[in-house]
Amino acid sequence: MKTIVLLDDLTINQIAAGEVIEGPASVVKELVENAIDANSTRIEIEVKNGGKTFIRVSDNGKGIDYDDIDIAFERHATSKIRSSQDLSKVLTMGFRGEALASIASISEVTLSSKKENSNQGYTYTVKGNKKGIIEECQCQNGTNIVVKDLFYNVPVRYKFLKNDNSEFQKIKKVVIRLSLANLNISFKLINEGKLVLKTSGNTKMQDAVYELFGKDIARNLIEVNFSYQNMEIKGVVGNSRIEMPYRKNEIFFVNNRSVENEILSNGVEQAFKGALKIGKFPFAILNLEISPQLIDMNIHPTKKEIKFQNEEDVFKIVYQAVKEALLKEEFLGKDETRNSEEIRQEYVQKQESYLPANYLLKRIQKSKEEKSLEIKPQIVNTKNKLDYKLIGVVFKTFIIIEINDELYFIDQHAAHERVLYEQVKDSYNSGKKPETQMLILPTVLPLKPAEIELIKDNIEIFEKVGFQIEDFGNNTIKISGVPSIAYNLDSTTIFQDTLKELTSFARTTKQEIENKFIATVACKAAVKAGMVLTQKEIDTLIQELWSLPNPYTCPHGRPTTIKYEKEELEKMKLRK
Ligand code: ADP
Ligand code: MG
Repeated sequence: MKTIVLLDDLTINQIAAGEVIEGPASVVKELVENAIDANSTRIEIEVKNGGKTFIRVSDNGKGIDYDDIDIAFERHATSKIRSSQDLSKVLTMGFRGEALASIASISEVTLSSKKENSNQGYTYTVKGNKKGIIEECQCQNGTNIVVKDLFYNVPVRYKFLKNDNSEFQKIKKVVIRLSLANLNISFKLINEGKLVLKTSGNTKMQDAVYELFGKDIARNLIEVNFSYQNMEIKGVVGNSRIEMPYRKNEIFFVNNRSVENEILSNGVEQAFKGALKIGKFPFAILNLEISPQLIDMNIHPTKKEIKFQNEEDVFKIVYQAVKEALLKEEFLGKDETRNSEEIRQEYVQKQESYLPANYLLKRIQKSKEEKSLEIKPQIVNTKNKLDYKLIGVVFKTFIIIEINDELYFIDQHAAHERVLYEQVKDSYNSGKKPETQMLILPTVLPLKPAEIELIKDNIEIFEKVGFQIEDFGNNTIKISGVPSIAYNLDSTTIFQDTLKELTSFARTTKQEIENKFIATVACKAAVKAGMVLTQKEIDTLIQELWSLPNPYTCPHGRPTTIKYEKEELEKMKLRK
């Protein structure tokens, strides 16, 4: 007996409906998205019984051609893509071509449509697998779709619907999100004959917030507009006067599609930390523009959930965008006479004031690009300073100086490492607050559970040298500050290098751990061989090195300098 059969169309469509249509709200979403794709400027949604018995979506869009009406209800019938190559560049909301077919397989759908340039409209009804005939009708330009008796032929699905009010709240949520994502379209939502919400479609976010959430929220908005590495984030957040009892009003879009995503809400909530009372949530409407190649929109059939390839970067941009917006607001205060450029300048200055005045390090990045510097021999002679004559730098690594009758070769990396080591050690032992460079963008680093444990055991050492880290849950560590001597380096690298060292000496005494830890931080932060330093940087380094009790070895015991006395050189000469 044959056991494998091909399923009939109705069954196939009902299976698809099971994936795409969860309930009335999904029907509304699909129909409104179709109306948006049809370039409508006005969309009206009317529902009854939470959408279970009646849903109407009317638009003033481009309408459907007589020849297309029947085929629009076929599975995989779409006017929006032509082949799989188009998939990566879809700009329309829908493209799978299964919404109408799915909805019609589980309800009664009547579609009426008229194209603007045609003087005749048509109407067509499909119920389950029963197709009606296309008839002429008197209708307005655009498309009107009525969906009746959802799940009438799938009792198991019907049974799982919630009460009318719950289903209506889901519809309202969908309509609010779609109107926020389409500020140029005027939306109207009618429930049981009553107008529930209406937007003007005048493209202004503040007006839409006023229309959808009321004037208290609309008056307390801060604009967000930020870009970072090919990503851009725009929208509004409520200021600290707006405290929400729930997370519901953290509304996110990615490339203008409504999404639910933990990384995005984490970013916003972290940025608001300290600004709101504990247990309260911010108000936020944010859209992230990101290359479609960096996300997977397809993990959820209704495209509500997405996955980012680089979650860390996404967290960073959201966090920083919101943080910057809040900071600007703090500067702005109530003084509306100040323009945004002034505020921006002040903001930039505040950011810069975080940076320590260690110009030796400030130079690192720049000097990488610079060509070798020509240094003329010169006598340095200032009060309280070491008198020396700078001969020059060889191999971009060894600084050569003359003091009295001695010639010194100084390894720039070893010397700088030694200087930094003493600085960190002094501040470590002084018990004073360590100098920390707060990161403009905090880093969230995934680690092994054992590493997290190790960090927790030694958190005090990390903090005393200037790291600001915290357990961020799910085996991640958040780094929001690094020792100020390391501000110019990649925070992830310095943290991981230090952690690696820590793993290798975890079994020794506390003091030994501390010493080695400080040495590692100093080593990572020091200028490397091959970096071109300016004359002023060289002088600072030499002065600082000579001010130490024993300048001649680095913390690892390697010599920082090699010394030749004049006599030694004379002997060499004689031998020759
Ligand atoms: P998809 O949106 O994925 O293309 P649908 O099943 O939702 O698939 O719709 C099928 C087709 O019907 C669309 O591609 C479009 O050409 C047409 N259509 C549906 N709704 C509308 C509408 N409101 N206005 C104009 N055309 C529409
Ligand atoms: Mg569609």
